Amino acid sequence: ALSSATDSTPRFYSRAMQHRALRFIRTETRLRDAFGKNQFELWFQPQVSLADHQVHQVEALVRWRLPGGEVAPPNEFLPVARAANLTVPLDRWVLTTACATLRKWLDDGLNIDRMAVNITAEDVRCDDFVAFVRSQLVRFGLPPSVLELELTESTLMDANDDTLRKLSELRDLGLDIALDDFGTGYSSLSYLHTLPINILKIDQCFIRNILTVETDAAITRSILWLANNFRLNTIAEGVESREQADFLKALHVDMTQGYHYARPMPDPAFRQWLDRWRQGDSVAS
Ligand code: C2E
Ligand code: MG
Ligand code: MG
Ligand code: MG
Repeated sequence: ALSSATDSTPRFYSRAMQHRALRFIRTETRLRDAFGKNQFELWFQPQVSLADHQVHQVEALVRWRLPGGEVAPPNEFLPVARAANLTVPLDRWVLTTACATLRKWLDDGLNIDRMAVNITAEDVRCDDFVAFVRSQLVRFGLPPSVLELELTESTLMDANDDTLRKLSELRDLGLDIALDDFGTGYSSLSYLHTLPINILKIDQCFIRNILTVETDAAITRSILWLANNFRLNTIAEGVESREQADFLKALHVDMTQGYHYARPMPDPAFRQWLDRWRQGDSVAS
């Protein structure tokens, strides 16, 4: 597989540096300031179609670049954002940046026509959520089909009628809605068909040992059976090897995403990766 030198985890830092970074991240004031100081970045991880090995879409994943240069992954600062009521401003920054990036990519002829963004329940609950999403599409002259909203299973399980109505409205507009981390929550099967979703994203915890742990393979096959019956598209995340990709292809999973193909990367690195991927495409498939 093609791989990138870019890494989302600050694993090369010393323990002291990491402690300093963590203290920084845990400060609410610093997170608040991060907006004005332009310290957030959107990184992109390709989603690969298993049928033809093409890449036409990515997932956008937020990063926080600290003044020392370290890059903090979302799991380290999202809890702080949540406690400080900053998830909505963050989601909105991500949505706007996603649309701005897609516009640039379209203008540059990159041939990437869809971006998945992670959305929190708090954001969907805002009165102006649907209006905000529409306004960003209009602002950047994009059709609704360029956006896919990823919501986690736990978010959707707790969803009230208002949230479901808003998501249906966005589906009707032409956006895709994916159920992220599927299989880790406890959604009942009867509930699944009432959700306004069209994509199931199989959680990486089932993919990790899919070749060696028979129950993980069985769960994945059950999820795919379910998706097929509900006419949902499927994507597997956390694919780290060629063997896992081959296994998932044999099960007719639609899309895959993971370190086997590429880690999340900033825009310039993603463009370079995409060039190399498309040059080597015939060899890779
Ligand atoms: P997620 O949406 O399930 O994203 C997948 C996570 O798995 C990402 O971590 C990604 O970098 C990582 N990943 C991808 N491929 C592999 C692989 O092959 N192996 C392994 N071990 N990991 C892989 P990341 O970027 O650290 O994000 C973690 C979580 O933070 C995301 O999980 C999502 O729930 C949340 N998140 C990320 N970006 C945003 C955002 O912009 N807004 C919101 N609200 N949440 C976000
Ligand atoms: Mg996601
Ligand atoms: Mg996920
Ligand atoms: Mg996950």
